[in-house]
Amino acid sequence: MRPQSNDLIYWRPFLKPIEWLVWALLVFALGWIQFQAQTLAARFTATLFLLGVALYMLLFFHWFLPREQNLRRWGHLTWVISVLVVAGADYWLGSYNIEFAMLYVVVVAIVGGTAGSRAAFVATLLAVAADGGIILLRGERHQSLWQEMLHLPVLLMAGYGASVVASVQRRRAVEADRQSRELALILNIRTAISTSLDFPRTMPQLAELIVNEMPAAFCHICLLERDQRHLTTLGFFARKGALNPPAVEPQCALAELPQHRQAIASVQVFHLSHAEFMTTLSHAEDARAWLAPIQMLYLVSLRVNERVLGTLVIGMDDGANQDMLDLERVGLVKTIAAQVADVIYKLELYQTMQRQAKRMTVLNEVARTIGSTIEMDALLELIYQQLSRVIPTDTYYVALYNASAQTVDLRILYDEGQRFPAHTQPLGNGLVNTIVRERRALLCRELAHERETLNIQTVVVGQPRQSESWLGAPILLGDEPLGVLVVASYQPRAFDQDDLALLSNIAMQAALALDNARHHAEVEAQARRDSLTGVFNHGYLLERLHQAVGPSCTATAPVSFIMLDIDYFKTYNDTYGHVLGDQVLRLTVQAIERHVKLTDSIGRWGGEEFGIVLPNTTIEQARQIAERIRTTLAELPLVDSHGHPIPKPTVSQGIATCPTHAHAAEELIDLADRTLYQAKAQGRDQVRVADPTR
Ligand code: GH3
Ligand code: MG
Ligand code: MG
Repeated sequence: MRPQSNDLIYWRPFLKPIEWLVWALLVFALGWIQFQAQTLAARFTATLFLLGVALYMLLFFHWFLPREQNLRRWGHLTWVISVLVVAGADYWLGSYNIEFAMLYVVVVAIVGGTAGSRAAFVATLLAVAADGGIILLRGERHQSLWQEMLHLPVLLMAGYGASVVASVQRRRAVEADRQSRELALILNIRTAISTSLDFPRTMPQLAELIVNEMPAAFCHICLLERDQRHLTTLGFFARKGALNPPAVEPQCALAELPQHRQAIASVQVFHLSHAEFMTTLSHAEDARAWLAPIQMLYLVSLRVNERVLGTLVIGMDDGANQDMLDLERVGLVKTIAAQVADVIYKLELYQTMQRQAKRMTVLNEVARTIGSTIEMDALLELIYQQLSRVIPTDTYYVALYNASAQTVDLRILYDEGQRFPAHTQPLGNGLVNTIVRERRALLCRELAHERETLNIQTVVVGQPRQSESWLGAPILLGDEPLGVLVVASYQPRAFDQDDLALLSNIAMQAALALDNARHHAEVEAQARRDSLTGVFNHGYLLERLHQAVGPSCTATAPVSFIMLDIDYFKTYNDTYGHVLGDQVLRLTVQAIERHVKLTDSIGRWGGEEFGIVLPNTTIEQARQIAERIRTTLAELPLVDSHGHPIPKPTVSQGIATCPTHAHAAEELIDLADRTLYQAKAQGRDQVRVADPTR
């Protein structure tokens, strides 16, 4: 810590000569008395007095002066004694024709230079009173009393004049000292930020620097949030005292801080009362005790080019520079505020640039990879990975919009780092609906407050908690909404307009990629299906059977497989032509589809043979399904090209179930196939269950 400023440093060069002069004067006076004194008693008193003065000078120059703090404390006593010493000399040595008025003036000038004009004025009055008193006390006068008294106003004027001159010099010195300290402070602030460019480290350092350089008791730097409604503590530092400083509130609503609001609206430096400051600092009781010794609080807004960035509070206690005038301190606070504002502005600018650069990188990365990702889930995952690099998000999801069903498919949903299963839910009357309807991005900085004004019913997805901030952008292909890209946070005011722009940009890119992925998915689904009947083709049916069997096939969750063949199908082709044959194939598929669930799979095994995979279906349930298919076929409305009814097709079916009959898919197919041919052999138009023993 820098030593406290003291005017004594300006006096130091003159102290030695003054001391020698005083000693020389004393020695001279002692000698003079020995030769001049009229009586022995007068000589004795004068010598005794001069020895007393010598003792005082010894104490003054070698005990008071080396201890600056003592001098500060005993300063007034020092000059009072000095005036009394001159008065004593005047009284005891007055008969030696020494001009004591001159000595008074010298002492008063020194008082003015060290303790200020007010003290010098009091010293002058004291000197005049002492001189006047001595004149009255002294019996023998060389002139008349009135003549003696005449030199009192002269002494008054001379003393005061000297004190004014000394005081002006002192003020100049103080001003120069203040300016040099201001410069040092500015330089130190500049140095502090040149070493570190991040807010969390720089701001508390800056607060500490201000406390040490002012010197002040504490310094509190607050940032005005972008919503213009909250103040966040950027840095707080308090000089270590007997009491611990209170814990500072990290954020406060501006509505609760009328003084800060006033400061923000003005360029002036305000004085703050303790109670007013407490609201910004802490509501704790011990904080009040901590603040008690603080005598002055300055509050000023931090602004750059008319833009208010925050506020600065500086508290002064006894240790503060007492020599400074309030006006000067206000000036210093203003200078500091300008510097701190500049630091905040530059750090903000640097942070914005850094964020912007990071965003550009992310956008580039998304643009580069999005085009080459054709898998929808991989695409949505990729967007999440890139977004979480630049936007601090708790929740991320993509809701794909289904216009005909008025539902949204939450294809990807992350909440607090945890992935939740994809699911479909009604579109509802929530924020996603608003975006789909209005086809524009929506930013809710404080959802708790905005819920009512938006007149919506928010839906909780992911963790069972309400988000505090929410940001969504529509994924638009032309004017058609494909879905909504959403980020949300459990913290209020987590997102800003920059995030909205970034999310909208990514959503725009996602639209094209999603459309590609959608087409790709459609083509892929097409490739899995048989073109005539629309059921799965042989290859994909096999894949589904392998997925269904395997480890998931247990006695409690059996998988049944039906192999179905149309009886004497060739006859239809031969008798009524292939067109009608194709129609019989399609009708047979429709009959099968009426009796199976969405989770079951139907596939064309080849020609007029079909395979049906039934997960979670017992032998008995499979038999019932097969029987229902058989009876349904008998009711088919089948006519020839002339509208004449023709014989209904019949089917033979073989059933095999895992794990009762087999464990592997190939085994199951083989068994069902063999059972089917047993049904054929037994006379067709029937259902048979596998019997591995045969
Ligand atoms: P079975 O009762 O023994 O099964 O007698 P089937 O006549 O049904 O059996 P077969 O294997 O002898 O005849 C199958 C016929 O299915 C042969 C083929 O012409 C016909 N076929 C295969 N694919 C198609 C197709 O896509 N459309 C038409 N219309 N006929 C097809
Ligand atoms: Mg057949
Ligand atoms: Mg056949």
